[in-house]
Amino acid sequence: MTVHDTDTASTDVIVVGSGLAGLVAACTALDRGRTVTIVEQEGPQCIGGQAFWSFGGLFLVDSPEQRRLGIEDSLELAWDDWDHTAGFDRDEDAGGEDLWARRWADAYLDFAHRDLRPWLRELGVSLFPVVGHAERGARTEGGHGNTVPRFHIVWGTGPGLVAPFTRRLRDAVHDGSARLVFRHRVTELLTDEGRVVGVAGERLAPDVTVRGEPSSREVVGEFALRAASVVVATGGIGGELDRVRELWPASLGSPPTEAVRGVPVHVDGAGLRIAEAAGARLVNGDRMWHYTEGIKNWDPIWPDHGIRILPGPSSLWLDHRGHRLPSPNYPGFDTLSTLKHLREVGAEHSWFVLTRSIIEKEFTLSGSEQNPDLTGRSIPQLAKRVLPGAPAPVQAFLDHGEDFIVADSLTELLDGMEELGRSADGSTIDRAAVVAALGERDNAVDDPASTDPQAVEIRRAREYLGDRLVRTAAPHRILDERHWPLIAVRLRTLTRKTLGGIQTDLDSRALGADGEPVPGLFAVGEAAGFGGGGVHGYRALEGTFLGGCLHTGLRAGRAV
Ligand SMILES: Cc1cc2nc3c(=O)[nH]c(=O)nc-3n(C[C@H](O)[C@H](O)[C@H](O)COP(=O)(O)OP(=O)(O)OC[C@H]3O[C@@H](n4cnc5c(N)ncnc54)[C@H](O)[C@@H]3O)c2cc1C
Repeated sequence: MTVHDTDTASTDVIVVGSGLAGLVAACTALDRGRTVTIVEQEGPQCIGGQAFWSFGGLFLVDSPEQRRLGIEDSLELAWDDWDHTAGFDRDEDAGGEDLWARRWADAYLDFAHRDLRPWLRELGVSLFPVVGHAERGARTEGGHGNTVPRFHIVWGTGPGLVAPFTRRLRDAVHDGSARLVFRHRVTELLTDEGRVVGVAGERLAPDVTVRGEPSSREVVGEFALRAASVVVATGGIGGELDRVRELWPASLGSPPTEAVRGVPVHVDGAGLRIAEAAGARLVNGDRMWHYTEGIKNWDPIWPDHGIRILPGPSSLWLDHRGHRLPSPNYPGFDTLSTLKHLREVGAEHSWFVLTRSIIEKEFTLSGSEQNPDLTGRSIPQLAKRVLPGAPAPVQAFLDHGEDFIVADSLTELLDGMEELGRSADGSTIDRAAVVAALGERDNAVDDPASTDPQAVEIRRAREYLGDRLVRTAAPHRILDERHWPLIAVRLRTLTRKTLGGIQTDLDSRALGADGEPVPGLFAVGEAAGFGGGGVHGYRALEGTFLGGCLHTGLRAGRAV
């Protein structure tokens, strides 16, 4: 083994991974007087992991931002929504995979209700005043989804959320209590009589590729490092498309053959396998949270880079053949139900059909780089959102995106859809079905008494100030030429989040197959299923991933 200076250095805590969860765990441990070493496979340019790219949406309960907008929320309502959405069903008699997940859900809701916002303020993180209504759900009694808007966006998006932790670490590096060891890839957890006592792995060659691009895997040496506690904060599997397909649940039909990556390729799940080899129990591996509104980035950073559209409710959603998706599969309503439906009908892609007026108001693209106004905290840029015209990043997709068709007539639109569908995967639209679906949707939107679920939801959305201001266009017929050009967007499956992971107790201690903690081992963030190995159950209410990283990181940092 090549001796490296990390071999002999001593530290109380090793954190594997410098994403948000790892950073929070490290900073919390530092605040408690521990010495910390963060081991990260990528270079310093990648600190913050996925959270840097994120939109910065956080799920909070009954916040002042909600109350100012007239939203009536409560812990009880949030718990009801969470429980119906998660669908936890793996209790003790079903293997116990949901045992700790439920407890974490309870604890997260309490955190999101009470502690999260004051803590963010203490860190200097503020929130955008308009609260979004993500994952609206079917609105049926006991159904899935957020009954009320709860998606709070960090002013400064993902980078704004990561910044206080990187600042804290910089100070700790300066005073010698923290070390950041980049380009070190952990391949093994060191154990001694069942206790995790350190990590070992490969030193990778220096690499200056920009953040998010795949970096070299050239090995230039090995390393080993010991500590009393090791925190696995290595993220999920969303960048490894083959692994996603391998774990794809039968309940969602066959895995997509075509998918775009919503995360960098280094989100490869290696940390999960490493933890398992040291005795940790992996649970809920078949639960994942991928989106159906993915578009190929015209200016990609990582291979097959996809961007998710966060849609408002007005677009017409059609399958690959041009048939309208059934309720509740409307834009922004029910991610998993939509994915299931599309997989069942064999759709490798689907379509949004909309107008200029809808795209201008209702298309937000997820990701920090797609929202320079919020990320750059620029009020003049932000003000443009309420002015006519598409936001610049959306306009760039209209101009350059390979999934977009802009047309001045219905015939031109249908021709474009036919051609693009055929060239993508050989499927062609049924033109008559598209025309019929347009008629059905437009007639419903025109009729104030219509019970068409989408039309009802568009009207309901307009009653909420936040939606009316920035998220929902005034209802209109898609075939009304005053709102043209017509637009069709081809949508693909976009991989993103891993909902299962290492089972942990409420101190973020990794549990073994016997349900007992593996001594010395902790897990946080996506690697821990955002708490307990799957705090979301089958489905998420959104904003709970960053929230889950903060929560699990905090609990681990207090326990190590
Ligand atoms: C574009 C985008 C938008 C998003 N928007 C939102 C949002 O608005 N709201 C929300 O709640 N969530 C959002 N998310 C999800 C959220 O950002 C992630 O779930 C979360 O940041 C995961 O953080 P993590 O620390 O657990 O893992 P990661 O950020 O994946 O960090 C893991 C780190 O571990 C390192 N690592 C992995 N394996 C090893 C190894 N063997 N040795 C050493 N290092 C290793 C990796 O290089 C990486 O730096 C978004 C994600 C993306 C990509």
